[in-house]
Amino acid sequence: MLPRGLRARVILNDKDRDCDRFNGVGMTSPRTRARMVARLREKGIRDETVLAAMNAVPRHIFVEESLASRAYDDTPLPIGYGQTISQPWVVARMTELARAGKPLRTVLEIGSDSGYQTAVLALAAEHIYTVERIGALVAQARRHLRELKLTNVAIKHGDGSAAMDESLQVDAIVVTAGATALPEALLAHLEIGGRMVVPLAVEGRAELQRLTVIERTANGFKEQTLEAVRFVPLLPGTA
Ligand code: SAH
Repeated sequence: MLPRGLRARVILNDKDRDCDRFNGVGMTSPRTRARMVARLREKGIRDETVLAAMNAVPRHIFVEESLASRAYDDTPLPIGYGQTISQPWVVARMTELARAGKPLRTVLEIGSDSGYQTAVLALAAEHIYTVERIGALVAQARRHLRELKLTNVAIKHGDGSAAMDESLQVDAIVVTAGATALPEALLAHLEIGGRMVVPLAVEGRAELQRLTVIERTANGFKEQTLEAVRFVPLLPGTA
């Protein structure tokens, strides 16, 4: 059962259910995906909205066909351009931390990559703005999101650590690339009560990252350092 408010309307409609590529068979079947979700639960993911979103998004369409049989292993996979699609547990955990048990209106994601995390967020929030610095990946992510008929996502080619439209106010920011220093410019876009989830280098050491949650309170910011993770670097400029 999908929790109320989960925006899975298009992804699960009957027409899509008939589509072989979408549904997958064998190692890409809904059963294999359900097993991935069961493992996420065992590994401590508790948020039912997140688990339902992970269950709804076919991860195999985001990876090369030769890797599709490994799409539901809990492991990162290469997607080309020197980038990787994150391990499912990391995607689930970041989405869970962004939600903090509350419905999300608007989310800003930095690092769209193949669009997988974007799709998961799109089922757990009303609107997603996602920014990717590699043009070829923007095209790929756009294709994947269109295939899933996710209409609540705006994807932009740009440097997500650079200044953005000042008027943009969001409930959550999910940075899906490793930052050596806190991307402070982004904090201005957080509403009070909003959270930024970012893999942040410990003592500036890029190889030692921890998921970090920065929450905007009425009086300032609260920081929480959580699990160790390994992300490709957050880089300036576009490619
Ligand atoms: N979210 C992905 C994994 C992220 S990989 C998933 O669904 O699994 C990190 C991505 O961040 C890469 O695509 C990389 O090109 C992008 N990136 C790195 N620095 C960036 C920046 N400054 N602005 C926007 N995107 C950036």
